[in-house]
Amino acid sequence: STLRRTQKRGHLCHVAVRIRPPSDNEDRKPIWVVDEQQSKITLSEDFAIETGRRRIDEFHFDSTFYGSDNQHLYNVAVKRAVLSTMEGIDATVFAYGQTASGKTYSMMGFEEQPGVIPQAVDDVFSYIVNQPGDREYLLRVSYMEIYNETIRDLLNPEQTDLRIHEHRTRGVYVSPLKEEIVTTPKQLMKVISRGEANRSVGATDFNEHSSRSHTIFSLTVESRRRTDTSGRPESPALSDRPSKKDDKGVTVSQLNLIDLAGSEKATEDAERRKEGAFINKSLLTLGNVISKITEETNTHIPYRDSKLTRILQSSLSGQSRIAVIATLSPTAKNLEESLNTLKFASRVK
Ligand code: ADP
Ligand code: MG
Repeated sequence: STLRRTQKRGHLCHVAVRIRPPSDNEDRKPIWVVDEQQSKITLSEDFAIETGRRRIDEFHFDSTFYGSDNQHLYNVAVKRAVLSTMEGIDATVFAYGQTASGKTYSMMGFEEQPGVIPQAVDDVFSYIVNQPGDREYLLRVSYMEIYNETIRDLLNPEQTDLRIHEHRTRGVYVSPLKEEIVTTPKQLMKVISRGEANRSVGATDFNEHSSRSHTIFSLTVESRRRTDTSGRPESPALSDRPSKKDDKGVTVSQLNLIDLAGSEKATEDAERRKEGAFINKSLLTLGNVISKITEETNTHIPYRDSKLTRILQSSLSGQSRIAVIATLSPTAKNLEESLNTLKFASRVK
């Protein structure tokens, strides 16, 4: 049953579904009814009757949201994944949904309503500051974009020849990729803004471009037991120097926060159709990969079928944590796309 499956797989993948409130020019009454307490979603009775859908399934997830803020979303759906990264376990958070359903609102948010990324950043720094002081940390960030199956380094946009490599111990990685060492949340958020600004470079229509590309923000957390605490209790827990190759006892883990390309069906336009085909392929592969990972059986996992899953291969394999935030528009016009998003969310649950 749904419940048993959730309990068995819950430790690996948290699936959240969030419906955004109607905007000013949309019908005030959403077609969906969200029960946050019971983590379920159904079509509203009025809408079901109106459209001749006498019965519709209830959709159950690990959490559902309507009307609650980004802080609540973060605490319920994402915080655990971020904390496990601090304990050495990789974690990946995806925002999945059609364009204008609330992916970027959830991941980035705004000054007065910070999203998953700024909240994760704050959590990481406060974890480090509040730990007993026996470990030293090094934080590195990278920010890239995948557009038409081409990888772009948003922190170094002139570099065009980014490739995916595999190393015996390091696993799968992108190179040459710029990684910046950060020591404060403010500095980290500045790096992100710089990357954001680079997204629009060369794009004729920024909104179009941003809805057609995946962005991958990665924070690599390196830590090691301190050896020099005795005489220098005041020495900072955060380092700004890369550790040496032969350093022993270093724990490395990665947190990936991903704003996916819009999941909507491609349109008539030929160029759009080509982009759409790439997007469909990578989102389909993502669904395949996550559902196979969470199956807990030894089946082949098709990481190589898309750049996105290939890049994330090291993070997604093993004991990693995953959170998927599936975002829905509240309107009747978007019913079919919303059903597709719910289908994706149900598949990866
Ligand atoms: P996407 O990134 O999926 O294309 P956006 O995050 O840009 O969509 O959201 C589309 C619009 O809806 C934006 O104007 C955004 O501010 C608004 N919006 C999205 N989610 C919410 C929410 N949970 N609460 C309030 N407004 C939201
Ligand atoms: Mg967006």
